[in-house]
Amino acid sequence: RAKQSGRNRFAMFTQEMQAHSTRVLLIENALHSALENNELSLHYQPQFSLSDKKLVASEALIRWNSHSLGRVSPGEFIPIAEDSGQIVAIGEWVITESIRQIREWIDLGYPPLKVAINLSYAQFQEPDLANFIAQTLEACRVPSSLLELELTERIAMDDPESAIEVINAFHDIGLETSIDDFGTGYSSLSYLQKLPVYKLKVDQSFVRNMINDENNLSIVSAIIALAKKLGMRTIAEGVETQEQLDKITSLGCDEVQGYLLGHPVPPDEFEQHHFSNESHSNQRKIG
Ligand code: C2E
Ligand code: MG
Ligand code: MG
Ligand code: MG
Repeated sequence: RAKQSGRNRFAMFTQEMQAHSTRVLLIENALHSALENNELSLHYQPQFSLSDKKLVASEALIRWNSHSLGRVSPGEFIPIAEDSGQIVAIGEWVITESIRQIREWIDLGYPPLKVAINLSYAQFQEPDLANFIAQTLEACRVPSSLLELELTERIAMDDPESAIEVINAFHDIGLETSIDDFGTGYSSLSYLQKLPVYKLKVDQSFVRNMINDENNLSIVSAIIALAKKLGMRTIAEGVETQEQLDKITSLGCDEVQGYLLGHPVPPDEFEQHHFSNESHSNQRKIG
């Protein structure tokens, strides 16, 4: 009996593995035509400063509506694109499209708003990345101060010496960088002080559990204190409740992003919600 149930479990396990690798292959194949079929788009989520409650930036988040698979979340397809190498072309599209959008918003007369884009590890390995960004900004006549790069802890810490070099190259062309999902990776505190990074994004898992769990609260408060000592700004991700907002405000966090204040939305909806009429001169404030 034991043997049989063991065998069943094994059969179930291999079935699951097969289903999983089939899905991975389907996604990888469908991604090949995603760019040429115009299946990708960017949504934008607002970020607010906590001191004066003003809109300070937005994060561009990729969306994929596949002709064959329907909507696939970035949490599912980005890791697959990273493994297959497709992330480099997708990442270039994200850079080009976000800069084009910044230009469009300038042309529409909205107040200049910084856009933060996410960079993958594989993109960061491309020697030409800083040049590509600089050329795209120039072609669209967009000031580099309007683009921010979100790096993962892995980017920053895998090969710290070369990370410092690349981040300095970004810095030289006027691009600010932040470390995304901070606290979940394996940051070395001694290298962190050498990275010319502008901002730490406190990972949402800590923000989510902060209210009910003392340890998570301690982590959030330690990250904020550390950033202050190192002269970096902090933003709390994933703020969904007023209680969480009050807590991170009292801890001295600089900025906030989360469903409580705004979901990621397509550009036209972002304009309607966050560039209100009077905002041409005076940006809309949060409650
Ligand atoms: P991320 O960069 O940490 O982005 C934050 C994620 O949290 C987004 O998920 C956002 O929609 C979600 N989020 C924001 N506020 C809240 C909240 O209050 N509650 C909850 N539960 N979630 C919230 P999304 O859009 O599904 O993206 C997931 C991840 O995919 C991103 O995490 C990022 O790592 C990656 N990603 C997204 N767009 C791109 C891209 O253009 N390039 C690369 N390389 N990665 C991307
Ligand atoms: Mg991000
Ligand atoms: Mg994040
Ligand atoms: Mg994340």
